[in-house]
Amino acid sequence: MSQLDRGGIAGRCATPAGARPGGTGAGRRANTLVSPASTRRVFVAMAGAVVIVPLLGTIAAVWLAVDYGVSWLALVMFAIAYVLTTLGVTLGFHRYFAHRSFRTSPPMRVAFIILGSMALQGSLLYWVSTHRRHHQFSDTPDDPHSPHMDGLSPLGWWRGLWHSHIGWMFAAEVTNAVRFAPDIIRDPLVFRTQLRYLMWAGLGLALPAVVAAGLTRSWYGMLETFLWAGPVRLFVVHHASWAVGSVSHMYGSRPFVTHDHSANNFWVALLAFGEGLQNNHHAFPAAARHAFRWWEPDLTGYVISSLAATKVIWDVVRPSAETVAQRRPTASIGSIVPGA
Ligand SMILES: [Zn+2]
Ligand SMILES: [Zn+2]
Repeated sequence: MSQLDRGGIAGRCATPAGARPGGTGAGRRANTLVSPASTRRVFVAMAGAVVIVPLLGTIAAVWLAVDYGVSWLALVMFAIAYVLTTLGVTLGFHRYFAHRSFRTSPPMRVAFIILGSMALQGSLLYWVSTHRRHHQFSDTPDDPHSPHMDGLSPLGWWRGLWHSHIGWMFAAEVTNAVRFAPDIIRDPLVFRTQLRYLMWAGLGLALPAVVAAGLTRSWYGMLETFLWAGPVRLFVVHHASWAVGSVSHMYGSRPFVTHDHSANNFWVALLAFGEGLQNNHHAFPAAARHAFRWWEPDLTGYVISSLAATKVIWDVVRPSAETVAQRRPTASIGSIVPGA
């Protein structure tokens, strides 16, 4: 068994489109759960809050900045919170839990869950289930957030962009976690830790404000840092992450032949720490590093290499240069970054 096939999850994510189960009837029922109207209302309310509150907080932060400027403390706390919570999702939720691209210790697993939850993109179980469904059915009717299901007209383009970026969350679909993420449910430590999702999310908002209050000893210092490390940070993290499912399935280069519209978008990859390299990722879902060229931005990949060098993580999945070159019609093996 090659490293890319390890664990079954990665192999399932790489299922060719022709071998996919159908997108209608029994297949659809098995992929999502039928939830009562009350549950759907809660999902819609949470989606609304996640979209609107960070936007309002960002407007308030910019409004205050125009009048009073922005302190270095608020900007530094924004940067720290942005990097840590983005890595919680890209390194933890995505490359470790959803694709099992490396192995690590229980304390690191807990740290990944806490930091990923602070990004307010749903609990680990919700995130992994939804993401594996995206890979298995990418750009088909069973994909939770494809931009290509609304036709080719200009209106269809706008509807597809809206649905893939934000609208899909208001569909309030609950992916069948028993089918898509049984490994998360079976791991007691992981399951129990991710159940406290709202507590970790609240901690992510409160911590920077408490630190700022201690350092500045002023209400304004606390409020300013809360806004920049909280709502503003969430606004940028969210739109960068959502652009992975929208923009990176619409615009960018496609060096590999895949059964979907995934594309490598440089700017999304820069903001989302490598996740915008969707064509590379859909061609090699289990690969820990998403960049195969030196100029492709993949901060998460560099963090993985650093953590592997210090033995904090191990068994990192790396497709060989030959394997990558075989999938790339026009590439030469010599142009691939060694060890990528
Ligand atoms: Zn994708
Ligand atoms: Zn993925």
